[in-house]
Amino acid sequence: MTYSYVSHLYCPKCNNTYNVVEKNQLCSCGSPLLVSYNMEEMKKVFYPELLREREPNLWRYHEMLPVQSIENVVSMGEGMTPMVLMSSLGEDMDIPNLYMKDEGLIPTGSFKSRGAAVGVSKAKEVGVEELAMPTNGNAGAAWSLYSARARIKSTIVMPTDAPEITRKECVAAGANLYLVDGLIGDAGKIVAQAVKDYDLFDASTLKEPYRIEGKKTMGLEIAEQFGWELPDVILYPTGGGVGLIGIFKALQELKELGWINGEKMPRLVAVQSDGCAPIVKAWQEGKTNAEPWQDASTIAFGINVSKAIGDFLILDAIRQTDGCAISVSDEMLLDELRTISTKEGTFVCPEGAAAFVAARKLRESKWIKQDERVVVLNTGAGIKYPNTVEVDAPILQPKDRIVKDYVK
Ligand SMILES: *Cc1c(COP(=O)(O)O)cnc(C)c1O
Ligand SMILES: [Zn+2]
Repeated sequence: MTYSYVSHLYCPKCNNTYNVVEKNQLCSCGSPLLVSYNMEEMKKVFYPELLREREPNLWRYHEMLPVQSIENVVSMGEGMTPMVLMSSLGEDMDIPNLYMKDEGLIPTGSFKSRGAAVGVSKAKEVGVEELAMPTNGNAGAAWSLYSARARIKSTIVMPTDAPEITRKECVAAGANLYLVDGLIGDAGKIVAQAVKDYDLFDASTLKEPYRIEGKKTMGLEIAEQFGWELPDVILYPTGGGVGLIGIFKALQELKELGWINGEKMPRLVAVQSDGCAPIVKAWQEGKTNAEPWQDASTIAFGINVSKAIGDFLILDAIRQTDGCAISVSDEMLLDELRTISTKEGTFVCPEGAAAFVAARKLRESKWIKQDERVVVLNTGAGIKYPNTVEVDAPILQPKDRIVKDYVK
């Protein structure tokens, strides 16, 4: 039995192709490479009913993933995260069919584990011994932990402002961690130099082709969780955009397999913060590439990416699905985060909260219709960001009583 129907890598810019046996990074033209599968062969043996007997993790789609030998799979059971109906919040927003796909419930507490699980597994398969990457925190945590499991050495560079817990995860995993007094772009330049100096494998966003395949599984799961009847809108907090590109790729592949009705693709929405919105700006100006954003800053750290190397792919995915790009303020996302916790009992990450604000705004502007099924990706666990909530609780002595200042 064939574990993976991967065939080769191709360049979406110049159509050059590469094999999946060697250590490949960017195309010689500078574009990210994408993974291609032998769909015709896959179709003959892979069908939805097969999934019923499989474990609820992302490897249930192994035919559509790039790892060729099951021995190389590095897994902690990641994937098949809950799809939660948000009735109270949906009522508040006038979107009765509002769902949250909760990526907080995954090893390392963010959806970055999907990219790391598949990326590290494939790195192991092609013989990588040491990798390096810049990160805004969550990717570094995920990649260093999965690398530890794969016995691959890792060097991680992240901004000093990145969520503190993520640097502790790197250290716990035994990674070589460096903090840079700057942004992720600065970390990227330092990594690029180290990659040259020490001949490391560059695991930067989209500079290795397989992370996107892991993130693609979010799209596969959404389709499966809705019984292959796709929702109308999917909102995704967008930094490097790998998740969005991945979801789009998943939908295209499912269409090719004939598992979904390709006529009605969900409209994909890239959500950014007002403090860092290069994709939104490019979208509004009708451009195919984004300009680097100056002085990027937002509390939603995972989407603080001023220049995404896959910008043209993000913009293309939005355009092809009749989606859009929208930004929200930090103030609004912090308010929304509290509303979500209070109404639904789910403590989301600030990036996820941003995507919920976007749903609210797009419903207000009637871009989202009342009867539409809307999926918001909560990309990580709120508990990774303790600073999103201020606590001012009274401190009691052991003998004190609670004096309620309200009557029942
Ligand atoms: C990385 C990250 C994002 C952005 O993901 P991309 O796929 O790079 O756009 C969103 N939310 C969280 C929590 C993240 O860690
Ligand atoms: Zn190319």
